[in-house]
Amino acid sequence: MSTNDNQLPSNFIRQIIADDLSNNKNNGKVVTRFPPEPNGYLHIGHAKSICLNFGIAIENNGACHLRFDDTNPEKESIEYMESIKRDVQWLGFKWNELCHASDYFEPLYRYALQLIEQGQAYVDSLSAEQIRAYRGTLTEPGKASPDRNRSVVENLDLFKRMRAGEFADGQYVLRAKIDMASPNINMRDPAIYRIRRVHHQRTGNDWCIYPMYDYTHCISDAIEGITHSLCTLEFEDHRPLYDWVLDQLHTPCHPQQIEFARLQLEYTIVSKRKLNQLVTEKYVNGWDDPRMPTIAGLRRAGFTPKALRDFCERIGLTKQNSWIEMGVLEYCIREDLNENAWRAMAVLQPLRVVISNYPEGQVESLEISNHPQRHELGKRQVPFSKVILIEQDDFAQIPPPKYKRLIVGGEVRLRGSYVIRCDEVIKDADGNIIELQCSYDPETLGKNPEGRKVKGVIHWVSEQQSYPAEVRLYHRLFNVPQPDNEENFLDALNPDSLEVLTDCRVEASLAKANVENRYQFERTGYFCLDAVDSSDGKLVFNRTVTLREGWVKD
Ligand code: ATP
Ligand code: MG
Repeated sequence: MSTNDNQLPSNFIRQIIADDLSNNKNNGKVVTRFPPEPNGYLHIGHAKSICLNFGIAIENNGACHLRFDDTNPEKESIEYMESIKRDVQWLGFKWNELCHASDYFEPLYRYALQLIEQGQAYVDSLSAEQIRAYRGTLTEPGKASPDRNRSVVENLDLFKRMRAGEFADGQYVLRAKIDMASPNINMRDPAIYRIRRVHHQRTGNDWCIYPMYDYTHCISDAIEGITHSLCTLEFEDHRPLYDWVLDQLHTPCHPQQIEFARLQLEYTIVSKRKLNQLVTEKYVNGWDDPRMPTIAGLRRAGFTPKALRDFCERIGLTKQNSWIEMGVLEYCIREDLNENAWRAMAVLQPLRVVISNYPEGQVESLEISNHPQRHELGKRQVPFSKVILIEQDDFAQIPPPKYKRLIVGGEVRLRGSYVIRCDEVIKDADGNIIELQCSYDPETLGKNPEGRKVKGVIHWVSEQQSYPAEVRLYHRLFNVPQPDNEENFLDALNPDSLEVLTDCRVEASLAKANVENRYQFERTGYFCLDAVDSSDGKLVFNRTVTLREGWVKD
């Protein structure tokens, strides 16, 4: 019986698993795995796979393993492994077992000997280039290597000597002996071992031969007793090879590979190789740059695990590749932050306002709610004084039609405070506005003014009691919706993806912000403290997302 939570939408994989459970396949067990190669940081596409694999295990009282597919030591590192573990945990998941493909180097080797003994693998001396040329095309069958009929005895001897380090890198490969005429090119005697003298981050110099992905993956799944091996669509054509290897070896367990469409998100890239290029060629400031679609980047930008999980659920699961709009991800984070972020005031581009009829030296402490709907989040004290700062574009000398903010002779309400009127504009010698002279109506704190309507509400901070801050606004990393389809994705980079505002002022309560907090800066968006560049004396805030899609101020 399926124990699927009825609240969760069904999808074809949940359905397959429910059917398997009702047939008591695998004795009613569900074991999945998330198998990243530690050759980069995880991205939002991986989040889809993580939520799927861990989610299915949780829903079915099963288990999910985190397995590092670490068979390509040149490109892999401990730093990447650590970042992957951190990201999976941050998303809210716990692996039942932490595994490494490299844990299985010995059994993988023994299974290769078994294939050779069964006459199903041979040592080939063709070069990589020759193998490619012999492989044939989609319309032409491949050609057998002259080594294809090497005897079992000779193959065993050569393979053992490959392991013993007697040959140079590239001198031989071990190939599965399947079918050079197969319409599926993956079945035309794929290489399963190659000689590579590289230090491995876990096995050191124990091995100079390394198994290939297709061969390693299915056996690792079988060794771990995985029941459902979920992977992306590009592996559909590899499934016959997955099954072939396990069938020949008669492994005690034969997992079922099921493919689903990978996530493609508009205006960004989900390929570790390309993201790596952005990092190493310094188009961005590291893997955790908030513009990056990496989990580390999204976290630093202020995204929450809840929003990412919600996103992965919402985009669903299909067998058709398609592009998801960035708006879907933004919707999910807004939903979370609208409900949970504390409200605060920050002025990103300050304009000085002097309130002429407010007593010199007086500081008033105003109580303002932390959240307009959630009263349990309490109130905070916001200091008000004679000199305040407002947003430059909350004042207009020549207002556009329907302008509801401050104009000369007009009134506006300061959020949580009084109504002020602008009496005069002070300019410097070049005609730049440097200050507004205003007056306030002392009768308007928490009350409407007598006999007139004031429509506009603007945010503000007290000049003396506010703190300087740097605010970083992030825009799309790419200018085109599908940068992956460009001839050179780098040409599609948006040169203006990072906007840094260095003269911002934030209300006093934000001096105590920590990286776990999320804020809505009134009227300007959702923000969080930058975990990397903020320090005791320096506040740096990242904009996570604007308040509304395609938001235009007022
Ligand atoms: P990349 O091309 O970014 O390196 P990958 O598929 O090579 O991706 P792996 O480390 O092998 O990266 O991925 C681990 C798991 O995450 C695999 O099961 C893979 O299918 C899945 N995965 C990777 N990218 C996506 C994506 N965009 N959408 C859904 N699942 C993904
Ligand atoms: Mg890969």
